[in-house]
Amino acid sequence: MKHPAAKRAEALPPYTFSKIQAKKKALVEQGLDIIDLGIGDPDLPTPGFIKERLIKELDDPANMRYSPFDGTREFREAVSTFYRRRFQVDLDPDTEVLMLIGSKEGLAHLVLSMVDPGDAVIVPDPSYPVYRMAAHLAGGRIYDLKLREALGFRPDFRDIPQDVLKRAKLAFLNYPGNPTGATVDLAFFEEAVAFFAEHGIWLVHDSAYNLVTFGDYQAPSVLQAEGAKDVAVEFGSLSKAFNMTGWRIGYAVGNRRVIQLLKTVKSNVDTGQFLPIQKAAAAALTSDLSVLATRNAIYEKRADVMIQALKAIGMSLQKPKGSIFLWAKVPDGETSASFCEKLLEEAGVILTPGSAFGPNGEGYCRISLSVPDERLVEAAERIRRVTDRS
Ligand SMILES: *Cc1c(COP(=O)(O)O)cnc(C)c1O
Repeated sequence: MKHPAAKRAEALPPYTFSKIQAKKKALVEQGLDIIDLGIGDPDLPTPGFIKERLIKELDDPANMRYSPFDGTREFREAVSTFYRRRFQVDLDPDTEVLMLIGSKEGLAHLVLSMVDPGDAVIVPDPSYPVYRMAAHLAGGRIYDLKLREALGFRPDFRDIPQDVLKRAKLAFLNYPGNPTGATVDLAFFEEAVAFFAEHGIWLVHDSAYNLVTFGDYQAPSVLQAEGAKDVAVEFGSLSKAFNMTGWRIGYAVGNRRVIQLLKTVKSNVDTGQFLPIQKAAAAALTSDLSVLATRNAIYEKRADVMIQALKAIGMSLQKPKGSIFLWAKVPDGETSASFCEKLLEEAGVILTPGSAFGPNGEGYCRISLSVPDERLVEAAERIRRVTDRS
């Protein structure tokens, strides 16, 4: 071929959600009313005090300039304050906190910072597709660590073969989990930290949903586990926590060597985030978080509505304690893809097939709760009608 491109890019499938969005666009252009429960993207507004800080900062010309590579001191201190108040974890804002332009970017750059071609990367199966694709871009070999339904969608670390443990550089975990909605207690993180410390593998915990929890449940931080800072980093984001997906701001915290490497890679590739966004995010993280209770109650109510509808048609699923997703078994006789295709064609409802999150996601579908209540009720009703007919 003339003008060849990189094999690593040509072998990369399009981002899962961009394929589904292309299909949706075609149907909408035909005039169909599509309800998209595919992507997790909060429909609720960013809290007012955060927007007000942004607006105020827009008036200062100094805020229009490049910002520090690792984030402003104010933002890094805000992350540190948030960890101290929420998790009783102390973080040095200069060496143990790094600002990210959204955690997706940070997760992908972390893999490039830590993984050489041929290294194994331990990826939960099913999980957020970015871990897997970043490992592919770095030339890593992906080991699918099964999340077992019988264990509440936790892995059994003893499943990982010895040769993978020898070759592995990184292992990912994510609780509250996407796509499963599974949650864990601190004891699980203690076990994970001890296991990966023993095997000399960096542990990366993605805590994108740490503030999206229901009732009294509070999601722990991996850094609360004994010895975690020696082996672990944690990624967080304002996206789901404060309904700020489009703002693009998150952070990495934990082991200072990993933070330093990630900072070096990033500073050669990107340059900070718009200063007013960093300042508004700092205000969010140092607030008393009381605004989140109402928002979380809305998600919980939506979960109840959808679970009731899905159970009525015989689907089996658990109510999560956090995240913005339901993870349901598809009806007997269907695959993930066939069920999702049927719902799109006959009900105009988009769900994400479980197989998009790894081979072990087959047989499930993911339902996002990030649409307005009345659309969710309508989607539940349409799903009921379609499955009644068949
Ligand atoms: C949404 C999501 C992210 C990405 O968050 P951004 O900060 O918006 O990049 C990361 N991890 C998981 C598991 C997510 O669901």
